[in-house]
Amino acid sequence: MNNQDLTRRKFLSTSAAGIATAGLASLPLKNVLADDSLKTEEKKGEIIYRTLGKTGIKLPIVSMGVMNAENPGVVEESYKLGVRHFDTAAYYQSGANEEMVGKVIKKLVVRDKVTIATKIFTPDMYGALKPGVTKKIIIDQFDGCLKRLQMDYVDILYLHNVKDNTIMFNDDVQDAFTTIKKSGKARHIGMSTHTYMAKGINEAVKAKIFEVILTAINFTLYDYTELFEAMTKASDAEIGLIAMKTQAGGPRIPNPESLKDYSTETVAKASLKWAMKFDYITTSIPGFDNYEHMRQDFSVASDLEFTENEKKFLNDNSVKLSFGFCRQCEKCLASCPKGVEIPTLMRTHMYARQYSNFQMARATYNEIPYYKSLDVCGNCDNCVAKCSNSVNIPKKISDLKMMYA
Ligand code: SF4
Ligand code: SF4
Repeated sequence: MNNQDLTRRKFLSTSAAGIATAGLASLPLKNVLADDSLKTEEKKGEIIYRTLGKTGIKLPIVSMGVMNAENPGVVEESYKLGVRHFDTAAYYQSGANEEMVGKVIKKLVVRDKVTIATKIFTPDMYGALKPGVTKKIIIDQFDGCLKRLQMDYVDILYLHNVKDNTIMFNDDVQDAFTTIKKSGKARHIGMSTHTYMAKGINEAVKAKIFEVILTAINFTLYDYTELFEAMTKASDAEIGLIAMKTQAGGPRIPNPESLKDYSTETVAKASLKWAMKFDYITTSIPGFDNYEHMRQDFSVASDLEFTENEKKFLNDNSVKLSFGFCRQCEKCLASCPKGVEIPTLMRTHMYARQYSNFQMARATYNEIPYYKSLDVCGNCDNCVAKCSNSVNIPKKISDLKMMYA
């Protein structure tokens, strides 16, 4: 089969596989830009909409991940700018995030014009279902979401942060989610994952009850072939795909020395555009928390063309190293002699240092049991943990020790 025989979607996923060992430049530009059909959906200056799988919901390709936002004014202005999908969770700001979204939507009287997503989960420290959690407990948890949101229903209810895939096949979980959907309190149900994303997506397709998948995807994952294949499979099953972590937890204010050649705007927009070039992804939920970043991110909704600087950024092989995005693959675990929970620590670091979301960072850190926490790093002066990607684990562990130990 030559390239002309390939559908655009297959072209992209096949290309991803083909460049697994090539430089960073290969996928972001040569393969994404080489496909002229990308331009057919765009009319200069108009907001690009895509349909969320079989849910039929049409959304601008840029939405708002509300997780980091504490200012309701940013949520309100986002709506006025054209954002129509707001993503929150019971976990974010211990429910205060849902309350804020609910108040803004009520004030604007636009409930029927927006797509609201929230998430619930009840995992234990290993990501499995907490012992004793029943269908009733899950439904009660979701009713708490509706109360905080001051809504009768949400458009998407996710099973949050799926790490142990068995949770998706648990009878109580499946029963609870399908009951909630039948009741009309959630129009659609989905799952979210940023750990072993490919496996999680493949299992979610098999589970057959999920209509939406929220997954991490960004340019530092360009060589994660299985992820592109899994997303293609989900899309073929008409499951709607929404992208998170599109900016790789990007260093936005200020850019570090390693990114001094690029403005924060270039980094943010190039990253977001790269992810949204994959048209099987309906929308993205960048976590902007101020007006400037809101405008920058939402401008991508009507302009997916890379500027020269954005191309330079995506072609810069040093960039991937500077990001050090942790894909939560857990391959580093074996390299730590004390069994420290490095992936969760790397996520803690991202929330604290890159998102400046200290509440989320603390909540994430608190997920780690004592015997895998920084407490056991105490006598280890030279961190020997190694990442199979580009994460500088010793540096981040050292940062975290200053913050939490
Ligand atoms: S630090 Fe590296 S090896 Fe460890 S989970 Fe993250 S990406 Fe994987
Ligand atoms: S400092 Fe590094 S190698 Fe030592 S215990 Fe902590 S994570 Fe493991």
